[in-house]
Amino acid sequence: MSVVDTTPASTAPALTAREEELLARVPDGLFIGGRWEAGSADPIEVSDPATGRVIKRIANARPEDGIRALDAAAEAAEAWAATPPRTRAEILRRAFDLLQERRDDFALLMTLEMGKPLAEANGEVTYGGEFLRWFSEEAVRIGGRFGQNPEGTGTMVVSQRPVGPCYLITPWNFPLAMATRKIAPALAAGCTVVVKPAELTPLTTLLFVQLLTDAGVPAGVVNVVPTSNAGALSEPIIADPRLRKLSFTGSTPVGRRLLAQAGQNVLRTSMELGGNAPFVVFEDADLEKAVEGAMLAKFRNIGQACTAANRFLVHESIAEDFAARVTAKVKALKLGRGTGDGVTIGPLIDDRAVASMGALIGDAVARGARILSGGNAPDGDGYFFEPTVLVDVQPGSDILREEIFGPVLAISTFATEEEALARANETEFGLVGYVFTSDLARGHRMIDRLDTGMMGLNTGLVSNAAAPFGGVKQSGLGREGGAEGIHEYLTTKYTLIPA
Ligand code: ADP
Repeated sequence: MSVVDTTPASTAPALTAREEELLARVPDGLFIGGRWEAGSADPIEVSDPATGRVIKRIANARPEDGIRALDAAAEAAEAWAATPPRTRAEILRRAFDLLQERRDDFALLMTLEMGKPLAEANGEVTYGGEFLRWFSEEAVRIGGRFGQNPEGTGTMVVSQRPVGPCYLITPWNFPLAMATRKIAPALAAGCTVVVKPAELTPLTTLLFVQLLTDAGVPAGVVNVVPTSNAGALSEPIIADPRLRKLSFTGSTPVGRRLLAQAGQNVLRTSMELGGNAPFVVFEDADLEKAVEGAMLAKFRNIGQACTAANRFLVHESIAEDFAARVTAKVKALKLGRGTGDGVTIGPLIDDRAVASMGALIGDAVARGARILSGGNAPDGDGYFFEPTVLVDVQPGSDILREEIFGPVLAISTFATEEEALARANETEFGLVGYVFTSDLARGHRMIDRLDTGMMGLNTGLVSNAAAPFGGVKQSGLGREGGAEGIHEYLTTKYTLIPA
């Protein structure tokens, strides 16, 4: 159904009939209390980053819409918390099953609004879906403790309760998985939610909330409010005493601001913020494996992941060989719209991202780095940037300090393990680290001493719904996924019952 006056496809070039048909089926309203609504008079325009053209217009939530979404979540909270865990589990499981059936729609939609190659979008459907399955399994295993107090004068009962209405803010780079990674554990725990998807990629969340409704999620349990003014919508929601939890995935500067706002009402928070992952290759590494891991850790999602390898630290004795092998692979990557045959690198999300690649490369080169491949934005439509390899990146370069968030692989060298470790830890971030070595003892030393929440030992990809995802230092607070993930949405209650 349509609640916004739209002229979507007419401005877009050459959408296929299949793409038009899918986009027409994506809901375009705000979803509040189980109903689709219209929002403000100025719709959000969602673009295909491969062409820069508008593909759909959707409702734009005003601050008052956000509060009404919270009204709905607060109203539904008690009944949802009282819904048997088995029922909550079965709804999530049905959502998992429906997502498998509708996989092609979700994959294509993510490619259209975000740009990632279709094969990767399919991978995200799998990954994102696993959170539904995993938390459907966790919903019925929310345990507690029971025992005598040490004095022997009473019984101590420790139980877990849903924390209450939650506000979930998601980023644009993984439109489905970042939504399921928050919504599934919240629902499993018995919490109701207001979701604010990123303005750049809200369509996947809208299609997903329709799926949740089809799976049996009751009205008011999940509410979705896309907006072009995230700050104005979020502030009153976060200040409202009915809200009990804020979960955010995005940049560290926005995370800091939200933490300050959350402090006013002493909200529970989960923060998945920026990364600056080191990718350390020792001289004893299996070089072919390291190159494969590098391609995955760097170019997955067009480099737009907080887990993306940001700084390649390679032992000086193998750096030239590593760079040559990586460059050969990078030259074989195919740049294009994510729906194209054999395309492995899609566009960046917007023109700011393209400008940022140029600036980071320019700074690195000015300080002595050399470009082995790529380095430019090709002419033509869309926000493309060539996959790039830089060597001889010098200490002090911006590219070593900032999160690149694009397809630029920056290599510098080290001489000793101590130096590698010191350089790897030289960042305010601490999300993930990748280490390649054949020496198990050295691998363990690096695991112990790298200040990160996650590690990949001889692998370039660590994400898994069954594992706790999250960082230390300014990469964030809390963990998503794994046995830990549901506890972000539960609060502990202790009761003493005297004997
Ligand atoms: P990125 O730079 O990757 O877009 P952001 O941190 O800007 O990361 O965005 C992540 C999410 O945070 C998006 O949903 C965005 O709309 C939202 N956001 C941005 N600014 C604010 C804010 N002031 N208050 C609440 N949410 C915000």
